[in-house]
Amino acid sequence: MKEQLARLIALQEADLRLEELAERKRRIPEMIEAARQPLLSSQATRDTTKQEFEKLTKDRKAREQELAVQEQVISKLQDRTTKGEIKTNREYQAHLLEIELAKKKRGEIEEQLLVLMDGVDVEKKDLEQAEAAVKETEQRFTAEKASLEGSVGALDEELAGLRQKRETVSATIEPSLLRNYEKLRASKKGQALAGVNKDGTCMVCRLHVQPQVVAEVKRATSIQTCSQCHRILYWAGEPVQVLPVPEKPTDAVEVEEAETTE
Ligand SMILES: [Zn+2]
Repeated sequence: MKEQLARLIALQEADLRLEELAERKRRIPEMIEAARQPLLSSQATRDTTKQEFEKLTKDRKAREQELAVQEQVISKLQDRTTKGEIKTNREYQAHLLEIELAKKKRGEIEEQLLVLMDGVDVEKKDLEQAEAAVKETEQRFTAEKASLEGSVGALDEELAGLRQKRETVSATIEPSLLRNYEKLRASKKGQALAGVNKDGTCMVCRLHVQPQVVAEVKRATSIQTCSQCHRILYWAGEPVQVLPVPEKPTDAVEVEEAETTE
């Protein structure tokens, strides 16, 4: 029975590892998606920055055209003076005011243009940074994705080895014991066996196992189960000593009657 228990332990080890690796493999697509997030986020930032840069560039061009038009307006107004179209003083005063207003408007356009030019410069730098961030996150993602996809091969290899081991070990276990194990495994989330530690506790459900059961578990001549979680118990404490440990002699302490009190 001791040998059978050892095989069950080996089987459970293989089963638990199989489950762990299968779960890891299942999670790979999800992990690739998680690794893609920084790239998506940097692309979104880049797109917004690009839109802002393009909008400001368009605004700047429009303002430049506006400025050119205003220059023409001023130039035409000034031409009227030289062409001698202005006859009276009153007309001249009105004309001067018109030029002044046109120049004032030009000044306003120039101010707006300066602000826009500054804005375009800032956005241009931001866009360059955003493009660099996209490039960096793209490289990192490509590397992470390749590494994750590459790990599938190694996982498949280990999984195949474990399945092979499981088959080999199962073939050496008594059919009824194996059936019992499988039934427990299905109902106990893969953990059909439970170790009993040196404090005599079931290591899965923490029940304090009765001393006579612990003794049976140590001897491993029969299958013992936990009365609470019903798992098959095995000894997981210190190795069982075959030879009895010699007791440490306890020296009788003689009471000294004639003790000096001085
Ligand atoms: Zn238990």
